[in-house]
Order: sequence, then C-alpha cells, then structure tokens
Amino acid sequence: MKKIYLLVSILIIGMVITACEPKTVKNKHKSVIMSSNEIIDDLVKSIGGNFIETNIAMRKGNDPHSYTATEKDIIRITDSSLIIYNGGNLEGRLEWALSKIGNITPAVSIIDCLPKDKLIYDKEKDSDKRQVNPHFWHNPVLWKIAANFIADNLASMNNVNQQIYFQNEEVLLYILDRLNNYIKEQIKKIPIEKRIIVTEHNAFAYFGAAYGFETYYLQGAATSSEITSADINNLADILIEKNVTTLFLEATLPDKNIRLLQSTLKARGHFVKIGGTLYSDTLGYNNNYEAMMRHNIDTIVDALSPK
Ligand SMILES: [Zn+2]
Repeated sequence: MKKIYLLVSILIIGMVITACEPKTVKNKHKSVIMSSNEIIDDLVKSIGGNFIETNIAMRKGNDPHSYTATEKDIIRITDSSLIIYNGGNLEGRLEWALSKIGNITPAVSIIDCLPKDKLIYDKEKDSDKRQVNPHFWHNPVLWKIAANFIADNLASMNNVNQQIYFQNEEVLLYILDRLNNYIKEQIKKIPIEKRIIVTEHNAFAYFGAAYGFETYYLQGAATSSEITSADINNLADILIEKNVTTLFLEATLPDKNIRLLQSTLKARGHFVKIGGTLYSDTLGYNNNYEAMMRHNIDTIVDALSPK
C-alpha cells in the first residue's frame, strides 16, 4: 500500500472529477479510454469502434461496490487519455483514487450528467441520509443518455473521427429503443400482481420504476452493509404478506443471504423458489449490454409468468 501512496503523492494533486462538458484530452494518435467497468467499456466500444483503445479498471465479474484501486490500476489510469466511470458511489474507492491522482487523466462520471429528475435516491441503512442509486443502466432509455454523453466525449477528443462516433451512436440508439420495446412486450406475460423482484441489493430500482415492478432487497444500493437476522425477518414479513414466491440471485454476490431468506421463509411455512441469476452489476457471460439485459428480462419473465 505504501507504494501506492508514494506514487499518488508524486502525481499532480487537484481534482478534475467533473461536470458534463466533454473533456479536452491529450491528443494522442489513438486514444486510450479507460472505463471503470465492463458495462461502460461495452458502451465505449460501441461508439468508438476500432478508432480507440480501451481498458477496464475492474476485473470482469467482480462486485463494483467493493472495488479498491491497485497500484497497477493507478498506473493504467494515468496512462489513459480519459477515464469514464458510472459514479453515484458505484465503484467503491475509485472516486477517492481519482481525487488523489488529480488532473493527469481527465475523469468523467456518467451519472453526474443525467437529468436530476431521472435519478432515484435510497435511504441509507440506519440513517436518514439519502444516497443516489447508481444502477441506472437497467433502464435502456437512460442508457441512451449515456450513449450520447460518450459520443460527445469521444468526438471532442478526436475531430477527425467524430462523424463515425455519431453514426455509431445512432445505431446504438436504435438498438436501445428496440431493447426497450422488447422488454415492454415481454413483461406483458407477467400478471401485474407478480411483478415483484427480490434480490440481495437494490440494483433493480430503475428497472422497476421504468417497467412497473416493485423491488425488495436485503441491503440498499451498495453491498457493504451487514445483513442481520432482523433484516431477513423484516423482508420475510413483507414477502409473506405479498405472497411472493420467487427470489433472484445476483451474479456478483454470493448466494448465502438469499438462501438464508429462502430457508427463513420455509421455516415459516412459506415456500419460495430461486428464479435464476440476474446480472445486476456485470455483463457476466453475455457478449454485450443488450444481451445482458435480454438475459435478465428473459429470466424474470420465465420465473414470474404462469406456466
Ligand atoms: Zn450494485
């Protein structure tokens, strides 16, 4: 750890975590864009195509909420032209690391550029404080705003290729509209009273708001809180009252807490099944964002629709 502190201390200090204007960056022959996670990287690649090099800070499939920047990550960040991250405290200690690195590499947060009235805030556990929920990409309509933001940033870096970036953005907007329509069609198969998603953390708040699902969870928008037996019992009370019969696992989290909830319900005479694994904070085995979203909706529909 000492080495990291030494490294960051010799770098220029001063924050450039920013606002929504595209950043002016070093004019390299080929730009290197570092995304915080694979979901953002997929978006950057969709817009930038072969005209940019990309890099990802986090290891694929890891829980982003528990991310800590390693010394290697700090070096990769400082070697990049631009770092794009989600923000809203999704990426663990990344924002802290960026604040220490300073303005060697410009950094932009996507969530900071969403219209404020589109954001969802969660009450923090055991506190009256409210915290923005970062999982907005589960609404493809909001992901269109992210696509526009990325295209603007890439275009400002490289005027020569900007036409291509905007053309790629147009294609992506079409794909996201098509995905939104697909989800709306699929959820018609689920009876309204069954439109309830239960997961370990509150990753589906934006999905639920967009498509009319209630969401319940053991911990909030982050994954760091201790889950107590009171949390399990309180959620069990709600699920029994609402006659919920399906729980979902999440690919980036161990299944023990959801299994514990399942066995607690069983002990109280209420049987629930596991409806499958959802990709809340990772693309998982899916090739891209669209495939990940289709996996999630297909899993949800399969689990909640009448057989
Ligand atoms: Zn999450």
